[in-house]
Amino acid sequence: MTVAVVGGGAVGLAIAGSLAERGATVTLYERDRLGSGTTGRAAGICYDAFADPVDAAVAGHAIDRYREWGLLTDCPYVWLARDADDAAAIDGQVDRMQSHGLAVSRLAPTELADRYPALDTEAVVTAGIAADAGLLDPDAAVEFLAERARAAGAAIRTGTEVSLAGPRTVETPSGTDTVDAVVVAAGHATAPLVGAIGVPLALETYRAQALRTDAVGATLPALYDATAEFYWRPQAESLLVGDGAHAATPEDWNPDADPSFVSGALERVADATTLSPTATRSWAGICTATPDRDPLVGAVAEGCSVATGWHGHGLMWAPAVGDHVASVVLGTASPLPEQFATRADPTRFDGDEAFDPLGDPTRDW
Ligand SMILES: Cc1cc2nc3c(=O)[nH]c(=O)nc-3n(C[C@H](O)[C@H](O)[C@H](O)COP(=O)(O)OP(=O)(O)OC[C@H]3O[C@@H](n4cnc5c(N)ncnc54)[C@H](O)[C@@H]3O)c2cc1C
Repeated sequence: MTVAVVGGGAVGLAIAGSLAERGATVTLYERDRLGSGTTGRAAGICYDAFADPVDAAVAGHAIDRYREWGLLTDCPYVWLARDADDAAAIDGQVDRMQSHGLAVSRLAPTELADRYPALDTEAVVTAGIAADAGLLDPDAAVEFLAERARAAGAAIRTGTEVSLAGPRTVETPSGTDTVDAVVVAAGHATAPLVGAIGVPLALETYRAQALRTDAVGATLPALYDATAEFYWRPQAESLLVGDGAHAATPEDWNPDADPSFVSGALERVADATTLSPTATRSWAGICTATPDRDPLVGAVAEGCSVATGWHGHGLMWAPAVGDHVASVVLGTASPLPEQFATRADPTRFDGDEAFDPLGDPTRDW
């Protein structure tokens, strides 16, 4: 089977590798360099701490793959609340996660303080901690995924922008190529690409920001503060701090972080810890969203599939999505739960829905 994959981010590369390893003749097209889209701007946090069992199974499959490939540095993921409503939500989530067998537990503020003395836990009401979590270097992941795809025989063409002339036909700068299957994993550009062949996608975008601090000299977990609405991950001696998300269009967004995000994020770190870091770098990236927070993964026409709509989970889910999409294209059994295919079915919307891309994020803490 000949397959064209559009997009050289983590998702397109994982799909190309999984298809090539299963015997498909794959060509991946990337308009710029590999990882130059949102993937190269990600924080690299991975965890299986999803209250929804299908999400947890997808994340668990991906974590296993990243571990098998030696790309994941183990690091616990903590999420905490400083007010009663958020605390009730976290307690409920921990119960659900435990009921479907995840290595997740509740941590009292005193236990949190004992483990991580640099955290200011005075106002913390409750926290959850996920043991099956870790950190990725997005550039190293891109390099590995590209090498894996090439080693399995995939051709990777960078600097090659393509469009679709039909469900199975890509227009490249050097001509038209009709293949057995096309997979579009082009991030936010997936919607206009398949829009050109008459397929509307319910996809919106938002802009997320991040910064890297100077060395902080403290041992900390990856952490999401549900009340102050920000997260960090340790990165060497420093922290990568993120959030400041708001709706933005792919045509009009600033790849540099806003000064107000930088000062606000540093202030939130100072409030949550005994530290007073400064920023050494900051940036922003465009993320994709769907009306129900499930992604758009699967066939949109005979011979044409898409994979996008990650709500900030595309890097951590990429290996699982790669294995799933390979099964969709090749007509074999998916390693993911059956409900994933139904929930991620990209044709479940009309495609003209108006919705808030940031919606209610509580499902994904
Ligand atoms: C600040 C920030 C922090 C984040 N942190 C995390 C995190 O900790 N964990 C996590 O899982 N996710 C995180 N994310 C989200 C994550 O980065 C994305 O979900 C993921 O990278 C999406 O990967 P992708 O391959 O779908 O898209 P992309 O990486 O955007 O790749 C799509 C590619 O398609 C190419 N392309 C587009 N159009 C064409 C065309 N016509 N022809 C050829 N090529 C084309 C683009 O150039 C691009 O390289 C974060 C995002 C941001 C912005």
